[in-house]
Amino acid sequence: MSKLSTVISNDTPWRGRKNEAHSLAPHIAGLRSCVIGVLDIQGSVEEHIAALKKLGLSPIAVKTKSDLDEVDGLIIPGGESTTIGKLLDLYGLDEEIFKRASQSVKTSDSKPLAIWGTCAGAILIAKKVTNRPPQNLPLVDIEMERNSYGRQLDSFETEISAPEVSPKPIPAVFIRAPQIKRASPKAKVLAQYGGKPVMVRQGVFLATTFHPELTNDLSVLSYFIKITGENASKKEPEGCAKRAH
Ligand code: GLN
Repeated sequence: MSKLSTVISNDTPWRGRKNEAHSLAPHIAGLRSCVIGVLDIQGSVEEHIAALKKLGLSPIAVKTKSDLDEVDGLIIPGGESTTIGKLLDLYGLDEEIFKRASQSVKTSDSKPLAIWGTCAGAILIAKKVTNRPPQNLPLVDIEMERNSYGRQLDSFETEISAPEVSPKPIPAVFIRAPQIKRASPKAKVLAQYGGKPVMVRQGVFLATTFHPELTNDLSVLSYFIKITGENASKKEPEGCAKRAH
């Protein structure tokens, strides 16, 4: 069990939802050979891996640069952004991720890389975070504040609407969540809660301040797989499908 899971008791209401994997799976048919990695430093790694497997993908846990070389898309999970950031720096992985994510897909030799940051992961890919040291991975034009919902609302679940991602309301679990205080026009707001953006997309980067991997809703993950597949096909027309599965 991941460290993040240990802070969530088993009887919390977002556990044990009916599985919606099968109804969503057809939307990503053809993209199952995309290799999605989950950054395996700290946080809700196993939950993301399990969700990817439910959709029929073969994800990998990314701990090293050579793991990173394998992936078309990278999920940076929720957890503790300070810890993840320090270890990313220590292992030199942040430089590698930044290089691959910020280079031109067409001209570089390496594979394109899409990134989804959930909660702490979103904090790590924001260009500016008011209460955090300088950013390791300044990729998304948003300004965030950590731990923004205050102590009494440390964790809560709600539903959000994101028509581009799912026709149905999406359950959203917020755990000591940050807020996106400002999003530049480059970052498209896909969902809001309490008047603040909670899901933004900037090109191949997706940031959510909540944790879809702690529910059985796979719509945000499916959306990220589609972004990854589209990005891979910018380099080679067959995209992820060039790898026989
Ligand atoms: N509060 C954490 C941080 O600032 C994020 C919490 C989470 O990822 N659930 O890193």
